Amino acid sequence: MARFCSNCGKEIEDKATICVHCGVQVNNLEEQREQYLIDKSAKNSLIFGIVSLLTCSIPLLGFIMSVIGVCYSFKGLKSEKYKGMAIGGTILSILFLVVSIIIFSFLIALILLPSMF
Ligand SMILES: [Zn+2]
Repeated sequence: MARFCSNCGKEIEDKATICVHCGVQVNNLEEQREQYLIDKSAKNSLIFGIVSLLTCSIPLLGFIMSVIGVCYSFKGLKSEKYKGMAIGGTILSILFLVVSIIIFSFLIALILLPSMF
């Protein structure tokens, strides 16, 4: 697989850390892959944060969505590019994790309380 310098656009070796044409430092493939996953996690944490907002009134589903959002936000917070998204996703996910737990325990209480009397 050919790689190209992000600065000058010329072809560089797979394992090169510095472009031989312009001298600019380039990330190796693993770093690029890791960076891609971090950026993707930042976006996913916001997506699942919003989904958990929409599904928080649905028991279990809202809980699962917000847990996924929280999981993504751990990795996503490392992203420089999408830090705002990751922070937004983290806040939404944690907020609606709490909300869905409250709604869920409220429903459990509604089901269990009458049987206690
Ligand atoms: Zn270059």
